[in-house]
Amino acid sequence: MSKQTQRKSMEYVKKEYKRTRTTPASWYLSSYDYKYNITHMQPFLRKLKEKKLVANKCSGCNRVFYPPRLVCGECLVKPDRWVDIRDTASVATYAIAYLKDEHGGVEEKPMVLVHHDGSDTSSIAMLAPGVNVKDTYIGMPIKAHWKENPEGGLMDIEYYDKVEDDAEDIDIKE
Ligand SMILES: [Zn+2]
Repeated sequence: MSKQTQRKSMEYVKKEYKRTRTTPASWYLSSYDYKYNITHMQPFLRKLKEKKLVANKCSGCNRVFYPPRLVCGECLVKPDRWVDIRDTASVATYAIAYLKDEHGGVEEKPMVLVHHDGSDTSSIAMLAPGVNVKDTYIGMPIKAHWKENPEGGLMDIEYYDKVEDDAEDIDIKE
């Protein structure tokens, strides 16, 4: 098989399903009640009140989840240990959000995926209001900015402050 045809055979082919029945309808998402189980989060929420972070750990694969997960997606078991993690983190990746402000202008804001030190997962967060999009980069060290009086809720970390990056390039020729 030539290289050309080999590549072609690997292309994604959309499966065509036979359409049997359609129903026109309007879906108002606000008219539904959503249940979200946060019982597994209680120790985590209690610690937030003390400005401390805990993650849960799966003893099947040793992965540490922040924010805590109900079930490990790999092992399909409940994580069974709580571990302390730091409130320092780094930017795993980011995207630029273009938000309309009240004067009709557009504000650029970096939306970042935060990877906490000591954790194996990441979560979406905002950077401090003054941080410029152009100064944001993958691997940028950051630190949680706590609310003055934490209430034990997910909004206790208001945003993430930039911290000084003391990383040095390694001269590989040496
Ligand atoms: Zn696991």
